Amino acid sequence: MSQANASTHETQFDVFAKVARYDHEQVLICQDNHTGLKAIIAIHNTVLGPGLGGTRMWKYGTEAEAINDALRLSRGMTYKAAISGLNLGGAKAVIIGDPTKDKSEHLMRKFGRFVENLGGKYVTAEDVGTTTKDMEYIKMETNHVVGLPEIMGGGGDPSPVTAYGVYMGIKASAKKAYGTDNLGGKKIAVQGTGKVGLHLIELLHKDGAHITASDIFESGLKVASDKYGANIVKPEEIFSQDVDIFAPCALGAILNNDNINKLKCHVIAGAANNQLEDETIHGDLIKSKGMYYAPDFLINAGGLINVYSEYNGYVREIAFSQTENIYNTVLSIYQKSEEENIKTQIAAIKLAEKRVHDTMILQSKI
Ligand code: NAD
Repeated sequence: MSQANASTHETQFDVFAKVARYDHEQVLICQDNHTGLKAIIAIHNTVLGPGLGGTRMWKYGTEAEAINDALRLSRGMTYKAAISGLNLGGAKAVIIGDPTKDKSEHLMRKFGRFVENLGGKYVTAEDVGTTTKDMEYIKMETNHVVGLPEIMGGGGDPSPVTAYGVYMGIKASAKKAYGTDNLGGKKIAVQGTGKVGLHLIELLHKDGAHITASDIFESGLKVASDKYGANIVKPEEIFSQDVDIFAPCALGAILNNDNINKLKCHVIAGAANNQLEDETIHGDLIKSKGMYYAPDFLINAGGLINVYSEYNGYVREIAFSQTENIYNTVLSIYQKSEEENIKTQIAAIKLAEKRVHDTMILQSKI
């Protein structure tokens, strides 16, 4: 076998091995010469309902990186929907390209046609690198798109609902760590004063918490300090603050050996996706330090609950009230983690997988 053939063979083998590892139902490669579209739609599991997950557009270094991202994120969506009690499956799409240069109306519409051809098995939404305008183009080709502006019958910006879910996760974690969910007087460090971070700070401030915040841009920090009296620190200083609670609301993979060892809090609960750099190593480290970690995919599910609400005619109050249940779920996760002596992240994954499994059994009996 030639060298070229050998490496092609290895790449193909890797893809199938990865798909098998997470047990995906279907992975679709979408390619179009005319528009330059290169996309991957990964449908992880549709036992609970159609696979819903945003479309991310990113300048991936390699095609393998893009496939990995789609596979990993779509599995996360299955867990997020399942643990939130939604009748939704997990899926995710990635478009390979620079969102500032490579987008066009027809690229998005072509992508929309691929979504349409899946017949509702995949429902898309906005994500990193895609905008409401892109969703409007996709909507020209398919109805399987959510997260549209309110004026188009959608739920609009999900961030306030996401922040409310994180707030519920923080309250439940405080109840566990301190015996009360009253956040008055609690010192809370919020990393990232973007859309979710600022809404969260508003809620925490209303409860009388003392906020410390960081960001790499000024605009959100100014609101946090002027409106909510937040103490502002440099991005690298946020981990070592003397606080009760740390709320990561910026980037993923920030809970690594260095940062965890700097933390002085008892609770970690924030909005960022995939906070643990390594689920096993860093979940263990947090547990060994006696900190309470509220799993990210559970407490940031408000955004998903918000778009799910569009299915039955969007009512914002209903989205908020469903999101409130995150409080009880977080408490049950802490209990399961203690009873079974497992990390909270694993307890949450087990609970999500149980709901999918029980539904499969239910369906096979019908
Ligand atoms: P955003 O882009 O509005 O805010 C993120 C903020 O983090 C920005 O202000 C950015 O400048 C800041 N930031 C980046 N690097 C930083 C660093 N090193 N230190 C401090 N701040 C830094 O995004 P968002 O919508 O507020 O989402 C925040 C997080 O929550 C993201 O990880 C996102 O994936 C996750 N999330 C958001 C939603 C939602 O409804 N918006 C839903 C689920 C999960």
